[in-house]
Amino acid sequence: MLKQNHFLVSILSSIAILFSSLSLAEEVNVYSYRQPFLVQPLFDKFTEATDIKVNVVFAKKGLSERLDREGRNSPADLVFTVDIGRLFEVADKNLTQAVKLKALDENIPDQYRDPEGHWFGLTTRTRSIFASKDRVDLKNIQNYEDMSKPVWKGRICSRSGKHPYNLALFASMIANNGLKETKTWLKGVKANLAQKPQGNDRSQVKAIKEGVCDISLGNNYYFGNMLMDKEQRAWADAVNIVFPNQGNRGTHVNISGMALTKHAPNKKSAEKLMVFLSEQLAQEIYSEQNFEYPVNPKVKPSELVSSWGEFKADKLSLAEIAKLRKQAAQLVDEVAFDD
Ligand code: FE
Repeated sequence: MLKQNHFLVSILSSIAILFSSLSLAEEVNVYSYRQPFLVQPLFDKFTEATDIKVNVVFAKKGLSERLDREGRNSPADLVFTVDIGRLFEVADKNLTQAVKLKALDENIPDQYRDPEGHWFGLTTRTRSIFASKDRVDLKNIQNYEDMSKPVWKGRICSRSGKHPYNLALFASMIANNGLKETKTWLKGVKANLAQKPQGNDRSQVKAIKEGVCDISLGNNYYFGNMLMDKEQRAWADAVNIVFPNQGNRGTHVNISGMALTKHAPNKKSAEKLMVFLSEQLAQEIYSEQNFEYPVNPKVKPSELVSSWGEFKADKLSLAEIAKLRKQAAQLVDEVAFDD
C-alpha cells in the first residue's frame, strides 16, 4: 500500500511538473519573410541562451494580410522582413506597436529605426553599382547621378524600376535632389538602358558578364552570394562593386528589420529576442551568413564584406525614404521606366 501510494505521488508530481513546464515554457512566434537559412541559426542561438522557444512561419508574401485577418487572435509576436517599404507597410496598416527599449536605441542608430519605435533595422545593405572590370573606367561612375549621362547610352541593365530596392533608392534621390531633378535623372537612366528592365539584381551582373551591358544597380550582399556560388562566381568576378556618392552625401542603404505586432501575446519574450538580435553575436552571424552590414555600429562586418572596403552611408533616415516611396513609384510610371 505504501509502495503504491508512493508510486501515485511520483506520477502525480511528474504530471504537475509537465504541466507547469508547459505553461511556463516561454516562446516567441515569428512571421518571417526572411528565409530559414538566415534567421534559423539566430533563433537557435537565442533559444540556447535564454531557453525561450522561437516558432517561425516562413512565407514569401501575404503575412501582413494574414496578421490583419487574424486581428487580436493572431499568435504572431514579431514580423521579420527586408526593405523599408515592407516594414513601413506593416506599421502603416496599424499592425504593430511601439517598443521603447534603451538597448535597442543604443544598438540601432536613429536613421535605421522608426522614431516612434514601430520598426527597427537589423542589417543594412547598400544599393551599390556593379561595373564591368574590362569595359568601365570607374572615374565615370562615382555617383548615382552619373547613370543618366550620355557616356552610358545603351550600357545599363536594370531590374524593374518598381522593385522595392529601386523605389527606396529613387525615394532617397527625391529627398536629396528634389522631385523635378530626379525625374529628369530617371528619364536619362531609362534612355541609357541596354534592354527592357527584367530579372533580379544578379541577372544584371550575369548580363554584364555576357557583354549585354556594362553597369547595373545591386545590393551588396548579392556580390557575396554570387562569389559563394559555383556557377555565379564568374559573374561576380567580371565586375567591381562601387559605393556611389562617396565625395558627397554617401551611398544609399536600405535595411532588413523587425516589428512587434500590435497584439503580441508574448511581448516580454519578443522584446528579449529583439534586443538579442541587435547585439554582437547575432549581428556578426547576419554578416557572415548573408554578407550584410551589421546595423549596430560597434560590430564589424564579416571578413569578405569588410574586404570590399569602407564607405560612407547616406545619413538620410529610412523613415523619410518610406514617406517618398509613392512619389518614386509615380516617377517610374511617368518616365515609363519598365516599358
Ligand atoms: Fe534581396
